[in-house]
Amino acid sequence: MIGGELNDFRQRLRIEQPGQALYSLIERLYPICRSITGDGVRKTLSILSEHVPLEVHEVPSGTAVLDWTVPKEWNIRDAYVKDASGRRVIDFKQHNLHVVGYSVPVKARMSLSELRPRLYSLPKHPDWIPYRNSFYKEDWGFCLTHRALEKLEEGEYEVCIDSTLENGSLSYGELVLPGREQGEILISCHVCHPSLCNDNLSGNAVAIFLARYLAALPRRHTFRFLFLPVTIGAITWLALNEANLGRIRHGLVLTLLGDAGRVTYKKSRRGDSAVDRAAAYVLESSGDPHAIEEFFPYGYDERQFCSPGFDLPVGCLMRTPHGRFPEYHNSGDNLELVKSESLEDSLGKCLAILDVLEKDELLINLSPKGEPQLGRRGIFRSLAERNEQGLEMALLWVLNQCDGSRSLVEVAQRSGLPFAKIHDAAEVLKKHDLLGAAPQAQKSRGKQA
Ligand code: ZN
Repeated sequence: MIGGELNDFRQRLRIEQPGQALYSLIERLYPICRSITGDGVRKTLSILSEHVPLEVHEVPSGTAVLDWTVPKEWNIRDAYVKDASGRRVIDFKQHNLHVVGYSVPVKARMSLSELRPRLYSLPKHPDWIPYRNSFYKEDWGFCLTHRALEKLEEGEYEVCIDSTLENGSLSYGELVLPGREQGEILISCHVCHPSLCNDNLSGNAVAIFLARYLAALPRRHTFRFLFLPVTIGAITWLALNEANLGRIRHGLVLTLLGDAGRVTYKKSRRGDSAVDRAAAYVLESSGDPHAIEEFFPYGYDERQFCSPGFDLPVGCLMRTPHGRFPEYHNSGDNLELVKSESLEDSLGKCLAILDVLEKDELLINLSPKGEPQLGRRGIFRSLAERNEQGLEMALLWVLNQCDGSRSLVEVAQRSGLPFAKIHDAAEVLKKHDLLGAAPQAQKSRGKQA
């Protein structure tokens, strides 16, 4: 089954090389200076909107959201440090990581010793510029390579940060693709990092192409895509949508999907939700190296979705987790770190997980006392006509295991048969009224939808 979804993706969207298409989008978004608010996020959302019609929400600065407040909006035009000869020794126009994100405006002259405490570098990786922010404390600073820092000589420097930090709004993008059912699958990613590729343009690219593909398919679930500034965006969205959170049946946070490392799935806080089972099943049956990790309360916006007051069934799909690769949060996270093959592999695994979630059901054998007589119902004959190899075994597994306590993906795991076969068998049995929705599935559907 794994891999079939990517071929369907290629055909439906007429994209021969999905990994290359994702990479090209990342290339286009890479130069933009994003932050948790401001025109960089808007520009990014407008480029993403060329693929699917995102609704862009603007939430005013000062809005109270859960325990937080939407901050002032930050925008920047230029920033530099010039030496006595007038040469830019640090230049925002060369790389937007050079300025500490959310730096307040500055225009001053100062000595190196005065400037020095505001300069950040990475002595262990002397050719990379670190990524730093001061979102919730008014401050300023510059980031530079350690090599460049060491070359700075004593003397007077001209410092300029041409930024604004004023009342404005926080922008985020949302797309809802209605399904046959109201129950939702939430796909969330962050759009607030400046020129960094894996964290998280990779997640944005995968999410937007998933949305394009799903928009072209008949859907069981309603899909909701969120493109949020990290933390404050998720908190804002949760605060504004608290009344409707009961609709969320499954969720995935997408991040770090372009590096060459193995795929990692971090479970939801619940640890046993359907998305946890679907992701584990897809990764295990892929035959590829992978890791499945228990929930921990740091990382990305799964922290907010899985906070105890919400405890939503939301996991996080990534490759190498944050902080475990040297290029994390520095200029090494660039267009060379992300690989089109990795992006394509991540996309394929997302498609497979969503396919399982779309088809997984909690069903019950309606003739559970002894095996039902399949021959009398013409089921074997129709199988022979369809030339379905191995479906007979799948029928027996489904009939035996579907007692309302195990979903189809659990039957696939237990039987060792491909999920697609188990799903086909369930469809045959439903047609012959031998299988129906488990009472608890009906109940929870009624409550959630
Ligand atoms: Zn990050």
